Amino acid sequence: MPSSSQRGAVLVADDDPVMRMLMLEMLAGVGLDAIEAADGAQAVRLAHERRPDLILMDVEMPQMDGFAACRAIRRDESGGAQVPIVMVTGGDDIEAVTSAYEAGATDFVSKPINWPILGHRVLYVLRASDAIARLRIADAQNRAVLAAIPDTFFRMNRDGFYLDYEPGHDRSGQGRTPGERAGRAADRHDAPFSSERCIGRHISDMLPRPIAARMLDQLGEVLRTQEIRSVEYELIRFGAAQHFEARLVATSPSEVLGLVRDISERKRSEEQIRRLAYCDSLTGIPNRQAFLENLERELQRSKIGNKKFAVLFMDLDAFKRINDTLGHNVGDHLLKIVSERLRETIRPSDLVSRGDAGLDGTTEDSASNLARLGGDEFTILIPDLERVEHALNVAHRVKEAMRRPFLIDGNEIFVTASIGISLFPEDGDDCNSLLKFADTAMYHAKNCGKNNAKLYSSSLTMQIMSHVKLEVGLRKALQNDELYLLYQPQLDVRSQEVVGVEALVRWRHPERGIISPTEFIPLAEETGLIVPIGEWVLRTACNQARAWQRHGRRALRMAVNLSAKQFKDENLSQIVLSALHETGLDPKLLELELTEGTLMDDALATLATLEQLRRIGVYLSIDDFGTGYSSMNYLKRFDVRALKIDRSFINGLPQDSENAAITRAIIAMAHGLKMAVVAEGVETDEQLVLLEEYGCDVVQGYFLGHPSTAESITHMLGPVRLVLPSG
Ligand code: C2E
Ligand code: MG
Ligand code: MG
Repeated sequence: MPSSSQRGAVLVADDDPVMRMLMLEMLAGVGLDAIEAADGAQAVRLAHERRPDLILMDVEMPQMDGFAACRAIRRDESGGAQVPIVMVTGGDDIEAVTSAYEAGATDFVSKPINWPILGHRVLYVLRASDAIARLRIADAQNRAVLAAIPDTFFRMNRDGFYLDYEPGHDRSGQGRTPGERAGRAADRHDAPFSSERCIGRHISDMLPRPIAARMLDQLGEVLRTQEIRSVEYELIRFGAAQHFEARLVATSPSEVLGLVRDISERKRSEEQIRRLAYCDSLTGIPNRQAFLENLERELQRSKIGNKKFAVLFMDLDAFKRINDTLGHNVGDHLLKIVSERLRETIRPSDLVSRGDAGLDGTTEDSASNLARLGGDEFTILIPDLERVEHALNVAHRVKEAMRRPFLIDGNEIFVTASIGISLFPEDGDDCNSLLKFADTAMYHAKNCGKNNAKLYSSSLTMQIMSHVKLEVGLRKALQNDELYLLYQPQLDVRSQEVVGVEALVRWRHPERGIISPTEFIPLAEETGLIVPIGEWVLRTACNQARAWQRHGRRALRMAVNLSAKQFKDENLSQIVLSALHETGLDPKLLELELTEGTLMDDALATLATLEQLRRIGVYLSIDDFGTGYSSMNYLKRFDVRALKIDRSFINGLPQDSENAAITRAIIAMAHGLKMAVVAEGVETDEQLVLLEEYGCDVVQGYFLGHPSTAESITHMLGPVRLVLPSG
């Protein structure tokens, strides 16, 4: 019970002073203060001025009766409207009771008054009015809150029927849509979600079934756990997607309050953020992050579906040069056009071979199969690959698209692209490996002369790995004394005597054993190591030739192979001179074997180098003759003394008549130009006989001797004979 200290007073309105006094007594008895009014008009005035908590009002009073006073008080907006008014009516005056009710009374007591009860009656009425007042405040608060938030709210029972529905005040929720406001035609889900339409209806009548099902699911969870849950969903309304979030709160064991908010704007900004995070800002196509995530999805999809796909890694050849010479603006512009061309070139069918939509109803972004990883690197994912050729075709189209000139700021820019391709599942079964392998294959494509597309194969990595290891080893081979020379004898056909040897280098690798020069010479050329290695070969060979000569053996001509890289080295003649000088070998006994390619490479510089060598007096020959493209006349200008017919021509002799004819022609023509002819790769007696018949001067090959150590050659030369070098 409320105590008197917390309340104001009770207004007692009665024209009978005795009644008033009795009432005051009674009120004091339950701890309530009172104010008195002797007639209706006074009661109205006091009710307005003093704001009593309750009014006890006699019906019959002079001037203004209780009903009129009650009505007047109720009209008083500034307080009287809410105050509880208890009318005191005549004993069995039912009419008075009805009139009191109509006048706005809260309750009534009838005469004769049961005094002991009246006090308590008053307290009960006060308490009830308190509760009503509190409810009224709560209700006003709720209304204020609901008016302040844009959300739509509804009440729903556990079976999914709307008990209440109030559209959000901004009317963009499920109240009215922007489309509706624009007056466009509506379909079922376009219709407004009004109280009239919703209340009493089931949620699945109002929302698409899958969404209704999710909502009911969460509704059950909310009632079970009494925790807040939210459901996000998308409605296509008036042709546009609208996103909503419904938050569900249990208000009783069987009822849920739902707050629905239009989150389209938030979704839009999320999408924007996503775009920023997943888009390459220069070209607008997906970036590395987007590509990696897409690749991961594709990987999972392909694993499940037992499908294949390809990753293409494209890099522009010489993009750095464009950037450096024409500036970054041009470079950027170029990249933009490149990405546009890529987009156009790659048919949609290359990129999406399926039209399935994601679970959330959004269709997958097909363009994410093309991406810029950074710089001038682009990737393309080709899903559902049936044949490897398809990936190669795409690569081919990309290459062709890049070859068309790019017109930027009036400049016609020409670029080419190198492309590497890795395949799932053949090459790897994780994203990193697939991307790395495509990259590796791209480098391989570049090494193979750019403007190229190469498939990755596991053997390629092995190749590259061992290549790298070999290079590291080769750098140490010289100082670790792992290189040595073998000598292959050359026989003069007419005199049947050994007239020379060819020095052939070998590498005794600490782990791999003996490695052929066909394997490590190209590597030495690539890395420039050929220069110090070549110098060592030259010096060692000259030394050996001089040693044989000094020990009274025949004066053998020592043939040393020169690679193109060595030939281009401006110090070559200096190196040759000092090798001869240090060993004391007669320059005439040194034969330098060049290839046709070496001579054809850069004619002017070649001429100068050759002139220097000629002046030194060394003997020049062309190795592997017939495999290149030089004419003999051309060779004559270089003062070439001998041709070594490549062993591929000798190989098929004597049966291969075509090669026989070529061999014969070469010999005849060389002789016409006063050049000697050496036949390489002579393996049989018949070959020797035939070459003799053709007039070949010198032969070299397994038939006469394999490349062997200096000691075995010494043995072969027989007992010491004193021979002076011939002129
Ligand atoms: P090349 O100068 O044409 O040397 C001849 C190659 O033919 C040698 O291979 C030799 O072993 C091989 N050969 C000789 N007779 C026969 C035969 O009857 N049948 C067959 N099938 N092969 C025969 P090798 O020693 O493996 O050398 C390969 C190539 O490596 C050489 O071809 C040469 O181009 C290069 N090379 C070797 N040593 C050096 C060097 O010191 N410097 C440079 N730059 N290149 C070298
Ligand atoms: Mg050779
Ligand atoms: Mg050769």
